[in-house]
Amino acid sequence: MTSERMLCPVCQVTFLLKEERVPGKRVVCPVCGAVLTLTEENGFWVLRRPKDMSPEEEIRARVENFAQLRGYHFNEMKEPLIEALLKKYERYGDFYCPCKIDNIPENVCPCLETRQGSVERNGRCHCGLFWK
Ligand SMILES: [Zn+2]
Repeated sequence: MTSERMLCPVCQVTFLLKEERVPGKRVVCPVCGAVLTLTEENGFWVLRRPKDMSPEEEIRARVENFAQLRGYHFNEMKEPLIEALLKKYERYGDFYCPCKIDNIPENVCPCLETRQGSVERNGRCHCGLFWK
C-alpha cells in the first residue's frame, strides 16, 4: 500500500493519497474539491482532470465537493455564477473566477483566496458563490 503525496492539477497542492492505486479511479482533491482521475503515466501515478465529464459536470461536482469539505453553503447566486464560470471556460479555457479580471491559475474556482479562508473572514467568497 503506497501513500505518497499526489499533486492536484487544479489547485497545485499536494496531498496524501492513502487509497489503493487503481487506473481510472475517481479521487476528490481534499483542498479544492476537484474531481480527478488516477492515471498511470510512464510508470508514475498522476492525477488528471476527468476526460469523461462535461465542463458543467466537472465544475458542479468541484464546487459541491468544496462546499461540503468546508461546510459552506450556496444561495440563489449559485446558478448565475455557474453559468458565468462556464462562459469563462468557453472563452479562456478554464474555470476562472467570473468576478476577477485576471485569468490566472490563482483565480481558478475555488480561487486561492477562497482556498486560503476568505469565506471564514468575510462570511462569503469574493463573488458570493460560497457562504459560511
Ligand atoms: Zn486541488
